[in-house]
Amino acid sequence: MRKTRIPAHLRKRVRASSPLRCAYCHSPEALLGVRLEVDHIIPAGAGGATEFANLCLICSRCNSHKYQRTHARDPRTGRRVRLFHPRRQKWNTHFAWSEDGTHLIGLTPCGNATVAALNMNDVLIVQLRQMWMEDGRHPLQTGE
Ligand SMILES: [Zn+2]
Repeated sequence: MRKTRIPAHLRKRVRASSPLRCAYCHSPEALLGVRLEVDHIIPAGAGGATEFANLCLICSRCNSHKYQRTHARDPRTGRRVRLFHPRRQKWNTHFAWSEDGTHLIGLTPCGNATVAALNMNDVLIVQLRQMWMEDGRHPLQTGE
């Protein structure tokens, strides 16, 4: 499916309103070394509008797993639930960091399903978070 074009003024607004970290896994752009992408939270192909309320910054790793998905299974219950919506839901309600700061923990069915669907605890990102922790750069505290 072809990606819907996002106008430059909307891209700018989304970047300007963000602490420049992935809206899902909270990886900071500055530490990833790769620009975050502006993404439709509800994909255009699933009826999502190209408007600020449906756009967020996402890392390419999360985006490659999210793609056109809107729902996923909570691995704990097997139930199909909506993926986390960064504009409508609070991150802290659905996710927490493990005590050592390397793993994301789902706090709700939505959080569990999103962690699993976006493969947010892949071994490579976990290794990177470990390095960020050792360097005192993770997790970012922004009170969100
Ligand atoms: Zn991410």
